[in-house]
Amino acid sequence: MALTVLNPATEQPIAELQQAGVEETDAAVARARDAYPAWRAVAPTDRARLLRRLATLVEEHSEELSQIESQNVGKPISSARGEVGMVAQVFHFYAGAIDKHYGETIPVAGGAALTFRESLGVVGLITPWNFPLNIASWKIGPALACGNTVVLKPAELTPLSALRLAELALDAGIPDGVLNVLVGKGSVVGQRLIEHPDVAKIGFTGSTEVGQRVMQGAAATIKRVTLELGGKSANIIFADADLEKAATSAPYSVFDNAGQDCCARSRILVERSVYDRFVGLLVDATRNVKVGDPRDDATEMGPLISAAHRETVASFVEGEPLFSGDVPDGPGFWFPCTLVEATNDDRVAREEVFGPVAAVIPFENEADAIRIANDTPYGLSGSIWTRDGARALRVARALESGVLSINSNSSVRVSTPFGGFKQSGFGRELGMHALQSYSEVKSVYISTEG
Ligand code: NAP
Ligand code: MG
Repeated sequence: MALTVLNPATEQPIAELQQAGVEETDAAVARARDAYPAWRAVAPTDRARLLRRLATLVEEHSEELSQIESQNVGKPISSARGEVGMVAQVFHFYAGAIDKHYGETIPVAGGAALTFRESLGVVGLITPWNFPLNIASWKIGPALACGNTVVLKPAELTPLSALRLAELALDAGIPDGVLNVLVGKGSVVGQRLIEHPDVAKIGFTGSTEVGQRVMQGAAATIKRVTLELGGKSANIIFADADLEKAATSAPYSVFDNAGQDCCARSRILVERSVYDRFVGLLVDATRNVKVGDPRDDATEMGPLISAAHRETVASFVEGEPLFSGDVPDGPGFWFPCTLVEATNDDRVAREEVFGPVAAVIPFENEADAIRIANDTPYGLSGSIWTRDGARALRVARALESGVLSINSNSSVRVSTPFGGFKQSGFGRELGMHALQSYSEVKSVYISTEG
């Protein structure tokens, strides 16, 4: 069956692709299984060399990849360039990391025990449409570095950048069959990967709902799973914070990528004593977000991914918002930057909107802020704004969340672990931590008795 890929900013087709079904999925898993023994046997320093070459090719093709990503997701070209830059860094990082992924020697009676970090086999990777190439690289990098072979299923809406990456991997000299990309439906290709007896692990990023299916499906063959799921993160503004700085930065922590960001700080918690002043600053800052043509270097926010998604996002805005911005006329799945006043019990504060809608919620004191921030099934990200260093750390320790930032909204770095608490998932990506998720520890005992 043919798949038509759209540009969400123009609603025009940009590619027509054949979709894989169960048969093609089985064939890709077989290719990955056949390629596995030889890939696993490649010396870590040589795997590193190939990954480094891939990183360099990504750098050399960064403008092409950025244009593909911008057109397919509708994201501003400046954001796409930043993301593709990170993809190259991720491959450089794992190229540098893999020959330092050591085992241990452990003192035991009668001999010695050693541990090895063994590869898993064929891993199935299932990725979402919001940061297609970026999130794919977070999984491909450590998976290949550890000696696994990969079958990647990108989201149906955004398969183009992954297909190009697979070509670059071949150009880099990564052997045929080591990195396979399948275009197809989650319910068909994704489901088959989850069930396939020859797939050792599923690395999944997406919704909590599909994450539950992955976990259920993986049970039948005891597959390893890493789940990076949804979020409903808090941006906590204490009265003693640099309010101008916090307000200027807050819109970008929720309207970047048009709010289609699992890390979006979509609950802005503000201490009551500075609430009115902060909301004034926040509205001014939100008015400045440049929404428009993703091809324009100055654009900060593009359209949503699809018409259906825009309807879902719109359903979260009831009554008169605090602020609603402008969007371009004409085609494109546009939705304005929107601020709504809410309590933490309102739907807009409980469910992940995955669009440019932020709930602004007052709090009374530190304990109240922690209570509200943690009153959610999710636990992915969040920010704390205060000039009191002890409080910043105290609150950071109290929050049930995997990735936090203090006096900043940035939470993703190549070298630091990324992942969720609670229903935001488990397992960690990025940094040295991700190597643990793509390898298995083996313990070997050697007797020295005569
Ligand atoms: P999604 O609907 O869960 O889809 C994610 C991936 O799963 C897609 O490749 C999709 O394929 C596939 N899929 C769908 N149904 C499946 C099934 N039954 N079996 C196997 N695979 C299946 O999520 P999305 O709509 O693309 O992305 C939005 C969600 O991702 C949000 O909830 C967001 O928070 C989350 N997200 C989390 C992170 C993180 O790191 N924590 C990062 C980004 C996004 P098709 O597209 O082909 O259906
Ligand atoms: Mg979906």
